[in-house]
Amino acid sequence: MIKTAFVTGASRGIGKAVAQTLAAKGYLVMGTYCQSRDAIEALAASHGIIPIQADLSQTDALPELAKAVWDKLGHVDVLVNNAACSCMGLFQCMTSEQVRLLYRVNLIAVVELTRLLLPPMLSRHSGCIVNIASMWGETGASCEVDYSVTKGAVLALTRALAKEVGPSGIRVNAVSPGTIRTDMTAHLGEETLHALAEETPLSRLGTPQDVADVVSFLVSEKAAYITGQDIPVNGGFLCL
Ligand code: NAP
Repeated sequence: MIKTAFVTGASRGIGKAVAQTLAAKGYLVMGTYCQSRDAIEALAASHGIIPIQADLSQTDALPELAKAVWDKLGHVDVLVNNAACSCMGLFQCMTSEQVRLLYRVNLIAVVELTRLLLPPMLSRHSGCIVNIASMWGETGASCEVDYSVTKGAVLALTRALAKEVGPSGIRVNAVSPGTIRTDMTAHLGEETLHALAEETPLSRLGTPQDVADVVSFLVSEKAAYITGQDIPVNGGFLCL
């Protein structure tokens, strides 16, 4: 039976690299986009990704999204919770709209989508979930406090759920990227990015492919005995 994967935020950056990598490995991949329709259509043309539009801040629409996933894929072998947004600023200066958006997209959608897609995995006694967390969820970032909270919670979800569903044959892991060159970090500017690269023991920033390769390993049989883990992909910037 063909293996299937559902990747959120597949239109750009890390999610795009994950979708491309899994498609190249023979997975039938369905990927969400929110705004970047042209980008996902290009990915559909080049890699056969099945696109689906989803604004993950609209958490009431998640059951409909899960149904669309089953209608297209039949079953989900791999779920990659990747889509997220970030917002920089002092903790006390964040608006309630910014805070609500961050928690809805980065945390509530991850929790609810996982809960919705889990039952058929439980019935089939198989499945892999990979949550894209962040180095800042591991250590905390000044001026990205709420973002750090959402990612720390995603790590807690990963560990707790792995314990609960391990006996049912489902593995749950997280990948915590350091600074990766994507649109999410572009706003930092070249000077800051250069400084971050210099501070990194491996002397460079990460690429989306660096992260995608670890996701690809985690969902493979080679990682059959790995669950409940957080794999840092940060060039040595943070050594836990
Ligand atoms: P990115 O380049 O900004 O791409 C974000 C993706 O998420 C896009 O596909 C975007 O879709 C989607 N998205 C954003 N808001 C959404 C919403 N409201 N509803 C649905 N989809 C939405 O980000 P990235 O750097 O690839 O980040 C991917 C993951 O890695 C995230 O979980 C991020 O927190 C994590 N991460 C990144 C870094 C880094 O340095 N880049 C570091 C640590 C962790 P559209 O383009 O279609 O709108």
